[in-house]
Amino acid sequence: MTQSIAIAGAGLLGRLMAWKLLCRGHSVTLFDNGSRQGELSAARVAASMLAPYTEVASAERRVFDWGLQALDWWPGLVAELTEVTGRDIACARNGSVVVAHDLDKANLRHFQQQLQAVVPDQMARVESLNRARLAELEPELAARFNEGLYLPDEGYLDNTALLAALTEALTAGGVNWCEHTAVSEVAPGQVKLEGGWQAFDWAIDCRGLGAKDQLTGLRGVRGEVLWLHAPEVDLTRPVRLMHPRYKLYVSPRPGRRYVIGATEIESESMAPVTVRSNLELLSALYSLHSGFAEATVEHAFAHCRPAMPDNLPVVQGETGLLRINGLYRHGYLLSPHVVETALARFDEMNDLRRVSA
Ligand SMILES: Cc1cc2nc3c(=O)[nH]c(=O)nc-3n(C[C@H](O)[C@H](O)[C@H](O)COP(=O)(O)OP(=O)(O)OC[C@H]3O[C@@H](n4cnc5c(N)ncnc54)[C@H](O)[C@@H]3O)c2cc1C
Repeated sequence: MTQSIAIAGAGLLGRLMAWKLLCRGHSVTLFDNGSRQGELSAARVAASMLAPYTEVASAERRVFDWGLQALDWWPGLVAELTEVTGRDIACARNGSVVVAHDLDKANLRHFQQQLQAVVPDQMARVESLNRARLAELEPELAARFNEGLYLPDEGYLDNTALLAALTEALTAGGVNWCEHTAVSEVAPGQVKLEGGWQAFDWAIDCRGLGAKDQLTGLRGVRGEVLWLHAPEVDLTRPVRLMHPRYKLYVSPRPGRRYVIGATEIESESMAPVTVRSNLELLSALYSLHSGFAEATVEHAFAHCRPAMPDNLPVVQGETGLLRINGLYRHGYLLSPHVVETALARFDEMNDLRRVSA
């Protein structure tokens, strides 16, 4: 049965939920305080790495298990969107490389120990690299690094292309997209706009940090990234540099573009990127590959990751209402699990509604 569904927030979760519900034949209205470009979302600035191994070093085992599902889920969604829009969306699963300078080898060892502690059964999927093997995987790093780790199951997505494809597919599919429309409250079957409450069969709150007033414990964790064009650098997969002070990552994009990140600061400030963060990220980057010296900075973004006190995602449901949030630094990694969990709750509660009607 077709139901009318309001989704507050058109970032990562809002768009994914809208697409899944649209595909099931529902009538979807999407509200966002920004435009369809998603310029106010964390989704837009993210490095969008799919990195269950590197992320689990500082997270629970569940994050790893949920993250593994994502590696099989995204290619299916990307294929669907490509079929509808004709857009190419880079979605690679060619692994990632972790390196450390000789002086910082202890940090690489520590990372390996963390993996051993959380995913001991997966260590066969963690390959130690010597210089020769590193040269096969990422030749441009072999001059500076003597060892590293290869995590063959990791990958990344081109979030710019993905969000654009979702915009196109949702628009073509008939979603009623209300841009520049702030939602101040979400309640069962209704959303509150400037002009008052609007009624639907369902209301789904996907406002990320914008849901703070209605989700106890939600906080923002600031992150800063630089988007570079580096014609002199040819890296084919995400690379992490283990360093005693800054943990740097480089996530590739088509056309020798790279997302460089990211700081992690317990602050909800959305102020522009600071000089200190730039200095830290760029000096670590130059120590990774001197070809970045000639790169141009195309964007410097700062945003806040929406996080719960335990840094795990939350799906809360009651009849006519879902609140989905807390993706923290794992939005692309965990959204497949979270979206499927939310859809299962939606079905469960619809069944209950039918039985009690
Ligand atoms: C620097 C950085 C790097 C990251 N890198 C990665 C990574 O490599 N891999 C990974 O998996 N994850 C990464 N993430 C995390 C990921 O981006 C987030 O977890 C994810 O975007 C959260 O999705 P969301 O839909 O909950 O929130 P968002 O994507 O922020 O979307 C929320 C939407 O709601 C809208 N909104 C807010 N308030 C209102 C309101 N009152 N009314 C209407 N609309 C509203 C916002 O404008 C926005 O469009 C990164 C995040 C940051 C900040």
